[in-house]
Amino acid sequence: MTLLLACVFVLLHASAIFFLPAFAMQVSYVFLLAAPALACAAALRRSARDGWRHSRGWLLVALAMASWTLGMAASLRQDLFLANANAAPGDSTLLFILFGVPIVLAVSASYVEGDSVLLRVIDAALALALGYLFYVHTFSLITLHGASSMIQALRVALMFDAENLFLLAAAAIRLTAADRRGERHFYRTMVVFTGLYAVATFYYNHFVALGDHPDFGSLRDPLIDIAFLAFALQAWRDPDGRRRLRRPSPALSRVVRTASPLLMALALLVVSVVVLRERFYLGVAGIGVAVLGYGVRTTLVQLKHMQTEEGLIRQRHALEELAHTDGLTGLANRRVLDEMLERAWILQESASQRVAVLMIDVDHFKKLNDRYGHAAGDACLRMVSRALLGATGRPGDVLGRYGGEEFALVMFGRSLQVALQVAERLRAAVEKLAIANADSPYGIITVSIGAASCLVAERSLEALLATADSALYAAKQQGRNRVVGLE
Ligand code: GH3
Ligand code: MG
Ligand code: MG
Repeated sequence: MTLLLACVFVLLHASAIFFLPAFAMQVSYVFLLAAPALACAAALRRSARDGWRHSRGWLLVALAMASWTLGMAASLRQDLFLANANAAPGDSTLLFILFGVPIVLAVSASYVEGDSVLLRVIDAALALALGYLFYVHTFSLITLHGASSMIQALRVALMFDAENLFLLAAAAIRLTAADRRGERHFYRTMVVFTGLYAVATFYYNHFVALGDHPDFGSLRDPLIDIAFLAFALQAWRDPDGRRRLRRPSPALSRVVRTASPLLMALALLVVSVVVLRERFYLGVAGIGVAVLGYGVRTTLVQLKHMQTEEGLIRQRHALEELAHTDGLTGLANRRVLDEMLERAWILQESASQRVAVLMIDVDHFKKLNDRYGHAAGDACLRMVSRALLGATGRPGDVLGRYGGEEFALVMFGRSLQVALQVAERLRAAVEKLAIANADSPYGIITVSIGAASCLVAERSLEALLATADSALYAAKQQGRNRVVGLE
């Protein structure tokens, strides 16, 4: 339906010129103004649909279309009101050229989430500098009245060609790397538009305006409509949600997105070099702004990445710490103990090593919980863990919470005898706390400890743990608050 309307538009344009030859220029202007205005409206509508905040690209292109429409309006004024038949009056030429600036800004957007305001200010400053240099260059070629020779007019046409090719190449690069649906829609639209526009303006400028028909009003005018109508059609259509998204390689997407601000700097650099020949210092300043702007921009992005990275490292450390410690007591958790023991068995170099394990279980802990409450139970576990830790002594030994009210101490290079001495020290340390537990036969909190020791090469880890468990069970059986060791 919309395609049909576009065809009708072009046909109407052609017929109006054909059937009203006396007013060919006047009626042609109506269509030449309407086409970019439609494109502008379509871009604005797309921005509104996608949410203004997320559619900077469409807004910038709407601005470009507005500039082009104004250029056409300026041309109309020159032709019809000022009777200036020159093919390239300064004001309309400048507006046609400036139309490229917001597009360069759009295609150089890096689409990084949470871009800072400062980055946008830098981009806008570079765009303004580019606009200014275009202004200087345009008026170094022509005057407000227009081109004064064929050579000048040709140079204006070549300036358009260069700009159009740049825009097409930039949009195409972005399209090959676009990996989001909205982004692909935008760049596909831009490639279609800049492609058609580049071909149409090349043909029109070189073979119509500079050829046999310097004024508007020839039957080839509708050619110019096509690019704008194609843009409006594409922008009007919602991106096809059902079509499978052809994803470019993530590496390519990343490189292009990261490097895209270079497009703006590059455009500024090229125009500065061109201006250099007419206005040396201005050209040098332009080059300086391009290099400095891109440099500052890159530095800011880099800084932000470093901050993010530092934050992530901090978070990772905190998570690792959380994953390795027991929340209640702050001791190592069971995972640490298990991993440590498993590693001792997996690594063959420690095969000749001796490993001792103490299984420490609080006696009649349920009774303490029942009488004094769960919070008192927690406080008791904290005190017990601190007393145990204080009594372990050697830095290499690892004390951890093994389960509810059960702790374990893993020691390397200790015989069963030494392990039993350590165990006795731990038992006495808890007894010394004298935490009241009225329902225990001892009246206070005590622990029972089972000890076992073996050579890594001699026995399996499971067997060692089972022996320590048996020893603990024996300690419980024998009346609790004691240490039992099994070989
Ligand atoms: P035994 O002398 O035979 O070891 O008797 P016990 O009461 O200590 O053993 P039992 O296994 O019957 O009870 C252990 C209790 O420890 C049960 C459970 O509610 C309590 N417990 C486990 N983890 C926690 C905890 O984190 N905080 C508190 N307050 N209590 C806990
Ligand atoms: Mg228990
Ligand atoms: Mg217990």
